[in-house]
Amino acid sequence: MTHTPCAAATCTRTLLDTEQATGQTLCRPCVDRIGVWLRELPLQITVLEGSRQRETSGAASGGRTVHRTAPLPGRADVLNLLGPAAWADGIRDPHGDAHGDQHGQLSIAGVLIPWVRLVTEERRWNPPLSLTPQSLALWLAQPRPLDWASRRPWAGDMRDELDELMRTVRNTTALRPRRRAVPQPCPRCDSLTLVATDHQLYIDCGTCQSMYTRDELALAARITAAALDSAAA
Ligand SMILES: [Zn+2]
Ligand SMILES: [Zn+2]
Repeated sequence: MTHTPCAAATCTRTLLDTEQATGQTLCRPCVDRIGVWLRELPLQITVLEGSRQRETSGAASGGRTVHRTAPLPGRADVLNLLGPAAWADGIRDPHGDAHGDQHGQLSIAGVLIPWVRLVTEERRWNPPLSLTPQSLALWLAQPRPLDWASRRPWAGDMRDELDELMRTVRNTTALRPRRRAVPQPCPRCDSLTLVATDHQLYIDCGTCQSMYTRDELALAARITAAALDSAAA
């Protein structure tokens, strides 16, 4: 079996035989990461809504009125991200790129609706009852829609678009999952830039963007140790 690269432009993995056998176009770490992002979104949205509240009410928490100040930096981003999007705008051409009429302003619902709509229409599944960004994210994070989406030719575009959305959201809220260094060289590029992230099954290399499971890294460490032993012998 020839090894096909993962369909995401932001991923450097090739698909495993087991992944190709089930028709996946995205590698398992990418699918896992999409699930992590989608489950993180409701928390991020709570923070965004809190900051919209603070910035528009002009009142301090104790009920004491404060002087209206210039909008805080990032306020426009917050409003854009929380901006509504209509189901009808969410028609996505699976072979094209741009969708809706977002005019370059990223909204969470505007990014999610076209993907949710594509899945519900192709599978004839019922869409989520509510079209809030939270409901859209949790709907798409369910195993059935996510597994099915990860076998479509457009799955790479979906992953890349969500990657961009999450970067924008996390930059706006300044809320990021906790990360810590892993003291082992990357099996692919040998850099000491492996990082483990909370709630994520995979460890990333900050240099070559490779992703590894803990088992893969344990195996790589054993191979390195064996090679050192035989070199010393
Ligand atoms: Zn991938
Ligand atoms: Zn690397």
